[in-house]
Amino acid sequence: MTSTSSDLPAALQEAITRRHVHDGTAHAIVSTELKIIHCSADFGRFLPENTAQIEGSLLTSLFAEFIGSEPYLRALLHNPDEHYAIKRVNRTARDDSVHYLDLELTGFDPQRPELGWLFTIRDTTEVGRLEQSLIQERNQLRLARRELALVNRELSRLDQLKTIFLSMAAHDIRAPLTVIRGYVEILTSMAEINPVDIDFDEFAAFLNTIRVQTDWLDNIINNILGLDQIENDQLVLHIVPCDLNSIIMDMCDMMQATAKLNQRTLTCSPADHSVIIPGDHQRLQQILQNVIGNGIKYNQTGGKVHISLSTSPEFAILTVTDNGVGIAQDQLPHIFELYYRTESAQKSQVRGTGLGLFIVKTLVEAHKGTIEVKSTIKSGTTFTICLPLLLKK
Ligand code: ADP
Repeated sequence: MTSTSSDLPAALQEAITRRHVHDGTAHAIVSTELKIIHCSADFGRFLPENTAQIEGSLLTSLFAEFIGSEPYLRALLHNPDEHYAIKRVNRTARDDSVHYLDLELTGFDPQRPELGWLFTIRDTTEVGRLEQSLIQERNQLRLARRELALVNRELSRLDQLKTIFLSMAAHDIRAPLTVIRGYVEILTSMAEINPVDIDFDEFAAFLNTIRVQTDWLDNIINNILGLDQIENDQLVLHIVPCDLNSIIMDMCDMMQATAKLNQRTLTCSPADHSVIIPGDHQRLQQILQNVIGNGIKYNQTGGKVHISLSTSPEFAILTVTDNGVGIAQDQLPHIFELYYRTESAQKSQVRGTGLGLFIVKTLVEAHKGTIEVKSTIKSGTTFTICLPLLLKK
């Protein structure tokens, strides 16, 4: 099927030598009729198994890639500087391996166009694969760079939010402190100026305000500390059997003063039995203080907040419902995000840091529970918290 260079006419042999066709390159001599008149021993490697006769076959029947380019190829026979190349042709070799080939046709000698073309096949599979893997790596790098840019943007957004949060937290802490200082000064002067005529109801009301503000301060500080622990992966729960029923009743009592001061009514429908859950007593109080506090805060004069507790076979179901300002539907999915405050909350006089519900959700989930919210704008909001019961063994 193939012949050696020594069978060729001397002119062609000389031309092949002149063109430095090296051993690794399969080659063929193609006549002016585009027929293969001679090919190197390894030429057949890149052709299908059933190619019986190579020499004598039309180049275009073995390499369909050249169909249609015949006129251009003929022009090459007279042009010493041109060649026709098709790069990275994909071929499955006889051993089923996939190869990338560079095909090239060059006229042998412009002075003797009757000698035809030299056709070379260069196996560039290795280079092709390297290129492919380089392209892949470059794409992966691009992707990683894009992800990094996104993470960086998110980090700087969080950083900005943290700065805003710190200034709001500082303001939030200063507000109750100012009230406490004011009332302490009033009480002190009442006691100094005329201790005999002190109006005890008034005295008790001032003390009550101080207590409410102190509770509020306590809540802000607990949230800040809680965030610090969550961010540093240091949230530790001290889980013991807790009676959620008595916790909600105590919390309802504790927050009555805050509700009264804000002219809201706070009511509670506890379960008619104890509801024991594995929990961290202090953290459960923190959850309640935030959710009930919000029901009081995001409400109007005369507003109502109601707490209720019931059970299913496996869960304690706690709801906190208010008839306050409500939350717009498009903002509901975001309210558990860190530092998030609804647009109306940001515009309102109600101060906040957007920290409470993020901490509440983290704490509820740390107790293996769930929290859901339903709300209608200007109508009110209900938070439902489900916490697993302590199952009797
Ligand atoms: P904040 O310190 O702002 O109160 P939270 O994380 O506790 O932060 O709440 C996030 C936001 O969700 C609030 O800013 C408010 O816009 C909205 N929100 C939370 N609870 C209620 C509620 N009961 N009624 C209306 N809006 C609420």
